[in-house]
Amino acid sequence: MTAGSFDIAHQRALDSVLAGAADVPLAALDWAYGTFGAQVTIASSFSIEDIVVIALACRAAAAHGVRPHVFMLDTGRLHQETHDAAAALMDRLDFDLAVFAPNHAPLEAFATEFGPNPFYRSPELRHGCCGLRKVEPLGRALAGRALWVTGLRRAQAATRRDLAHLEWDGGHGLYKLNPLLELSEGAVRAAIQQQELPYNPLQDQGFRSIGCAPCTRAIGPEDDIRAGRWWWEEPEHRECGLHLRPSA
Ligand code: SF4
Repeated sequence: MTAGSFDIAHQRALDSVLAGAADVPLAALDWAYGTFGAQVTIASSFSIEDIVVIALACRAAAAHGVRPHVFMLDTGRLHQETHDAAAALMDRLDFDLAVFAPNHAPLEAFATEFGPNPFYRSPELRHGCCGLRKVEPLGRALAGRALWVTGLRRAQAATRRDLAHLEWDGGHGLYKLNPLLELSEGAVRAAIQQQELPYNPLQDQGFRSIGCAPCTRAIGPEDDIRAGRWWWEEPEHRECGLHLRPSA
């Protein structure tokens, strides 16, 4: 059963929890599992942020007798290293992973009409590809859930500066929790190192934000963290549709 509509009581409860929390990300996840239990799911591209979220969720969920549920969108264009990172984390931590792939019929028609790499040709074709490979599968991944967890951080992009810890995803009809919202990239990397968690080796080769292989490239340490994603587009347009909000 989904939450159905936004309840201000949940926002107030989370605000109260976080106001006195020494570890905000862990407290936010503890609140989520305490409130929604097994109806929580975690979106993961197996970035360093997502790996930290999953490790924290394993601790938070266990306190409520819940086994964390994680999903990944296997677009068909991911790096092999991303699949390897997912496998390595499954060997290390105890969680369920559900894999969602694009519907084959519309994807076959799209690729047949526009070719193998249509995303470089126009914003419309890029969004068409993301729609088929990411956005539509996301809808299926979120069906029946009450809250989804992301690894979004405010400092990642111009499009993420005004995020909140708890949001209402009206498009999918459930809550969205961003527990790492205020963390820096350095804090995320420190958490990975302290716990010796396996992660995608591309993240040490300049791929500071990793998506599909043809739409991700290495960047320098001074670049905006999302500069390597859809680098041929304007920064304010560099989202794939997974995290768009009505106000965005
Ligand atoms: S990131 Fe690139 S390859 Fe992946 S779904 Fe979007 S346009 Fe297609």
